[in-house]
Amino acid sequence: MKADTANKLIGWMLIVLCVGAVAYAVILWLFATLPAWLVWVLIGFAVLVAIGTAMAAAEEYVTKQLGPLETRPRSRYIPNDVKAEAMRRDGGRCRKCGSTKELHFDHIIPYSRGGTNDVGNIQVLCGRCNRRKSNR
Ligand SMILES: [Zn+2]
Repeated sequence: MKADTANKLIGWMLIVLCVGAVAYAVILWLFATLPAWLVWVLIGFAVLVAIGTAMAAAEEYVTKQLGPLETRPRSRYIPNDVKAEAMRRDGGRCRKCGSTKELHFDHIIPYSRGGTNDVGNIQVLCGRCNRRKSNR
């Protein structure tokens, strides 16, 4: 473990200890001052707020890492299980002419026009049919 990591860890532990000690003192003081049920309500409320804050922070972190849900990049790459399924469904042959040479996986609705990597949008084509399709 690096020295600065250890220092950071010790710093955080001290902060947690201080906060814990203060919280403990406050809770003891509350129990001495207020009826017990009210203290438990306050503790429950504080825990809920803490959980809410942590969840909001986690969501913010994920959004920062990946971008908002609707703009996360789609992958042009066809997953291997989809390729295997399309190959099995098309019988290992070009769907147009039945050739088994130079086979490609083709997006029926082009990826650039919003086509997905779903197996329903993937077909097996030979090189010749694939080129013919893209020249169309
Ligand atoms: Zn073909």
